[in-house]
Amino acid sequence: MPRLGVLGWPVAHSRSPAMFAAAFAATGRDGWSYQRLPVPPELFEETVRALAGSGFAGANVTIPHKAAALRLADEAEPVAARIGAANTLTFAGDGRIGARNTDAPGLHRALAQAGADPRGRSALVLGAGGSARAAVVALLDGGASEVAVWNRTSSRARALCAVLGATAVEDPGPADLLVNCTAIGLAGGEGHGFESLPLALPDLDAFDTVADLVYGDTETALVAAARARGLRTVDGLEMLVAQGALAFEAWTGDQAPLEAMRAGARARG
Ligand code: NAP
Repeated sequence: MPRLGVLGWPVAHSRSPAMFAAAFAATGRDGWSYQRLPVPPELFEETVRALAGSGFAGANVTIPHKAAALRLADEAEPVAARIGAANTLTFAGDGRIGARNTDAPGLHRALAQAGADPRGRSALVLGAGGSARAAVVALLDGGASEVAVWNRTSSRARALCAVLGATAVEDPGPADLLVNCTAIGLAGGEGHGFESLPLALPDLDAFDTVADLVYGDTETALVAAARARGLRTVDGLEMLVAQGALAFEAWTGDQAPLEAMRAGARARG
């Protein structure tokens, strides 16, 4: 029976095992398994090659391995190569490793499902790491009219924009869509919870949609604030489901059971 899993370091927080267990149950895939695969960076490549040769059909990849996953693949989809990172690996019977990035099409799908298709609309992306690169590609390929990128370390935003064709900004201005791709977000402590971002609460009114890739046991402070102000929101679990559904479809060739995956991802472990 096919075995799958999620490679990360750490990976204990991942909701992917619950989400895929729900998907397999909903589609009658008895015996399919999906497990956490905690692997430190120095063991990543040899672990992936061992998995490929020992009955695993594929794996998802999360922080900090996405760039390494792309490098070791024998074949990569063009969008993964453009982003410079892969989050979904497929192991063929002959041991060859294929790489995809479902974060970019997943974000596009999650935005479209929420009624926030980026076509013809402006966007501000916060962050310049791997998920920000995927978000910029998703927005540009989705026909956004303008994509601005702000990052704490501004040189990284400039480097990302030079490669992908967006505009790096020091002082973010208004846009239709706001996409948080920084690692900040869960509420806690004093204040509104996202003081490290270049946004005060009233600034949120300059957007009509707020998407936050971060997820945890509670809603992020940014999503909670946006929802309270009546904005359209896409939270990190919706994004997780969208990118996971595309991985499911790549591994099985079948349509993903979205409702079951959503319920699995949102269930408290
Ligand atoms: P990454 O490559 O490590 O990038 C982290 C980003 O966060 C960088 O832009 C970094 O800025 C910024 N950052 C970190 N701490 C900060 C702080 N205190 N103040 C301001 N900026 C800060 O990570 P990633 O892969 O892009 O992932 C980012 C987040 O998205 C993670 O929480 C991840 O779990 C989440 N994510 C979720 C999904 C999903 O399916 N829901 C998919 C992908 C990623 P500097 O460059 O200045 O360090």
